[in-house]
Amino acid sequence: MNLKEIYLSKNKPVISYEVFPPKNDSDGTKTEKLFCELEILKRHNPSLISVTYGAGGSVHNESLEIVKRIKNNLNVTPLPHFTCVSMNRNNIKAYLENLGNIGVKNILALRGDIPENQEYCHDFLHASELVDYIQNETDLSVAVAGYPEGHTESLSLEDDIKYLKLKVSKGADVIYTQLFFNNNKFYDFLERCVDNGIDIPVIPGIMPVTNYNSLCKMVSLCRVDLPKDFLEKIEQHKDDKDYILKYGIEYASNQCKDLIENNVKGLHFYTLNKSCAVNEILNNIQRATK
Ligand code: FAD
Repeated sequence: MNLKEIYLSKNKPVISYEVFPPKNDSDGTKTEKLFCELEILKRHNPSLISVTYGAGGSVHNESLEIVKRIKNNLNVTPLPHFTCVSMNRNNIKAYLENLGNIGVKNILALRGDIPENQEYCHDFLHASELVDYIQNETDLSVAVAGYPEGHTESLSLEDDIKYLKLKVSKGADVIYTQLFFNNNKFYDFLERCVDNGIDIPVIPGIMPVTNYNSLCKMVSLCRVDLPKDFLEKIEQHKDDKDYILKYGIEYASNQCKDLIENNVKGLHFYTLNKSCAVNEILNNIQRATK
């Protein structure tokens, strides 16, 4: 099914996951482990599993192999990510043809992070140009990224939403957001999207905190508000791994329950290739919504 069909066909929130191709996996052990984790998460009937794409060019083939296996062995619809920065038009054409050849119907079209201190190809400067190209050259249904608290490069959220609108007008069918911990930021963003005439599904990205150091790393990479109570609890118990895992699951479960009550069309989980936290969260939601 393509993205439009998936989000139209369900009368309850669509569940989807993000995974990444494991690095340094020459003997395939990490990939096998990833598929064991996905077998566990498959019990919650995900409609899509998205696979990240390394903007630096390191893991393109691995991405494609994982996409194929999700489709053919796990029997779940894959959503490959694709970044256009540093790629020339011919390479982009070839990669999209590869996706078509393996029967992929959907793609998450991204610009990717601009490489620091190095020359890069300027065939496509922004994701909107990639969306336009994909719409004209392929039958793929296109998703794009949205930033409830603004992208790190943008001067204001208004500016960012103006460019999000451009991606939508070029033919995007769904928006997946960057993670957030304050649902009010997401609801404000939704309102701004509606005010700007963005009428496609906006799917919240949820990342359960499972570890203090990875939270710090992630916060340094993107704009994200950490609510006071949440931050205090995490700081207070930062050396207690079990506590952080348990609290991270509880916090994300409550976030998801609130989002469901506010009629979101889907929940997109950043799994970090692990099933434990997301599995627990989905069990908690099921218990609460029975
Ligand atoms: P764009 O939509 O092009 O926006 C980038 C910046 O440029 C924004 O500040 C925007 O406001 C501005 N802008 C856009 N259009 C214009 C214009 N016409 N003129 C001036 N300014 C403009 N990265 C990876 O490397 N691999 C992945 O697999 C990956 N997956 C992701 C999945 C999700 C759901 C999200 C939210 C992000 C993901 N990223 C990934 C990160 C993403 O690549 C970076 O955030 C990147 O810096 C921006 O990509 P974009 O597609 O949002 O770019």
